[in-house]
Formats: sequence, structure tokens, C-alpha cells
Amino acid sequence: MPRSQSFGPSALHRLVQAVFFLAMLAAGIQFAFFAAWAMGASERFVPRPASAEGFLPISALIALKRLVLTGQWDPVHPAGLAILLCALAAALFFRKGFCGYVCPLGTLSHWLFRLGRRAGCMHQPSPRLGFLWTLPKYVLLGFVLWIPFGLMDLEACEAFLLSRYNMVADTKMLLFFLHPSATLAACLAFLAGGSLLFPSFWCRCFCPYGALLGLLSVCSPLAVRRDSRLCTGCRQCQAHCPQGIAVHLAERIASPECTGCLECQGHCPSKGCLEVHAGWGRRSARLPWWSMALLTAGLVLGVWLAARAAGHWDSTLPKEAVRLLHEGIASLRH
Ligand code: SF4
Ligand code: SF4
Ligand code: SF4
Repeated sequence: MPRSQSFGPSALHRLVQAVFFLAMLAAGIQFAFFAAWAMGASERFVPRPASAEGFLPISALIALKRLVLTGQWDPVHPAGLAILLCALAAALFFRKGFCGYVCPLGTLSHWLFRLGRRAGCMHQPSPRLGFLWTLPKYVLLGFVLWIPFGLMDLEACEAFLLSRYNMVADTKMLLFFLHPSATLAACLAFLAGGSLLFPSFWCRCFCPYGALLGLLSVCSPLAVRRDSRLCTGCRQCQAHCPQGIAVHLAERIASPECTGCLECQGHCPSKGCLEVHAGWGRRSARLPWWSMALLTAGLVLGVWLAARAAGHWDSTLPKEAVRLLHEGIASLRH
């Protein structure tokens, strides 16, 4: 019986995705109530969910440079830095687990992929042209890394981190998406439509954050391995891979696009053909199918607990200062 019919890698992947997605949705709603209070639209104070800082990756990269140069943790968006470090660690050790299990945009992308497959409109790009699809995100990554590591010195980094712009960047981001311009709406429609036609259109082609995680994940000791003696060449693995990877052509899936989601393993009809292995070359050891999901989720939980214990999760800005900083922001949406 294929594992997809019982509780196996696919079911676990979707369960973990759903848990993180619901947690982020709840945080998003809570953040909207907080922003309404901060901008003076409501008198009811709702605490700010720190996980919203996960949507400020450039600020987190600048905070990372400051951390490396000074040893000081960013006090403005401390959780943003913790989430960035968690995503980098997940990529280094457990492939792009952050993309495969945690990031809500990755989950949305996967849902659109499945919808596109069911509607019969999903197209797998040719493996030979696969790299061309990913070029835009590497160009964007170069630009995103050039800002903190090429353009800004330590003084400029500190000025940015303590600027009013950075302190209210999360609220501005919320307003940006709650009141989209015609251009933004067209871009979102383009990306959603593209994700129905091509696997993980946004993630594979344009996301610079995913590009960075993908480059790190090439070093990851964990990877899916294919036993060519058991492989029938049915290509169910590629058909169900949310990244469109030609799993049936590789012995070890070391692609920077692989998120470790194990949908390929879950849909492979040949038992034991696809397995997670730790290590490189012939010295690798087979791991249980649930290891990738549990290690990724465990890392996220561990980083969250450690950041909280170290006082590197919640911002320490007083409530009065938060309201002062948000004065006049609501008018920016018009
Ligand atoms: S590629 Fe970017 S948007 Fe996609 S799942 Fe990864 S971090 Fe999220
Ligand atoms: S699904 Fe399994 S048996 Fe079929 S091509 Fe892929 S690895 Fe081979
Ligand atoms: S190769 Fe397998 S584990 Fe990697 S992204 Fe594709 S389906 Fe997921």
C-alpha cells in the first residue's frame, strides 16, 4: 500500500504545515488588533505577537550583521533575528525545512500546487531549463545581501535598526497588504496564477530568502536518496514534488530547491526506494520518514524557547513609545 493512503510522510508534512499556518494566521489576526490599537483606531490593547517579525527578513539580515560585528542582539525586532537564525540553521542541517514546513507562503504555494495538479493545469518545467527559472531569485538575493553586507557599514546598520521606519516596518507591511495598490494586486494575481501552472512559482523563481536557504541547504547532511535498483521509473515522485524536482533522475536529492517535504517518498509506490539519509557518500545512514518533519519542528520550538529564555523574543519598547511611533501611520495607506 502506498504510504500516501496511510499516515506517512505526506500526511505528516501537511499536518505540520497546517499547524504552523494556523499559528501564523492567529498571529496575523492578533497583530492586526495590535496595529489598530497602536495607530489609535482602537482603545483595546492587544499584545504584539513577536512572530510577525518573521516577515522582515532584510531588517533581520542587518541585525545579523550587527550581531556578528558587535555581539549585540537587535532590541527592536529580536524575534526577527531569532527566526532568521532558525531558518538558516534548518537549511544547514535539515535541507530547506523552514520553507517546507514553517513558512506560510510555502504552505500557500503547496496548496496552489495541489489545486493546479487536481485541475490538470500544472506543468513541470524541463529539468535542463530548471536553473533558468531560478535565476531571478539569485539576482534578487545578490541585491538583498548587498544592502547590509556591501552598502551599509556598522554605523548605517545601527542607524537603520533604531530608525522609526524600522520600528514600525511590520505595521507598514500589514497596511501594504491590507490595502493593496492596483500594482500589488496584479503582482499577487500573477504569482498565484503562476503557482497554479508551475510548481512553487514564487518560491522557485523569485524569493531571495528561499534562494539563500537553498544555497545553505546544499551542505545539509540530510537528503532523500533513491535506490535505483528498486525504482520503476514511474515518475510519481516528480509529479508530486512541490518543487518539480526530477527525483527519478538523481541518486541523492541535493538540489537547492528541495525542502525536505518528503511528498516524493510519500507517493513512491516502490517501498524503500526513496528514504531520508544522513551523511554524504556511501557512509550515510537511513533515517525514519518522520525525522525531517520532527527535527525541523523541534528546531523551531527549541529556538523559540531559547530566545524567550534569553530575552531575545519580545521587543521591550514601552507601550507609550509604540503609540507615539505609530502616530500618522494610518494615513500612509491612502
Ligand atoms: S522560498 Fe521564500 S516564500 Fe517560499 S517558502 Fe521559502 S522563505 Fe517562504
Ligand atoms: S516514484 Fe519511486 S519508483 Fe517511481 S520513479 Fe520515483 S523513485 Fe522511482
Ligand atoms: S525532492 Fe522530495 S523532499 Fe525534496 S522537495 Fe521534492 S518532494 Fe519534497
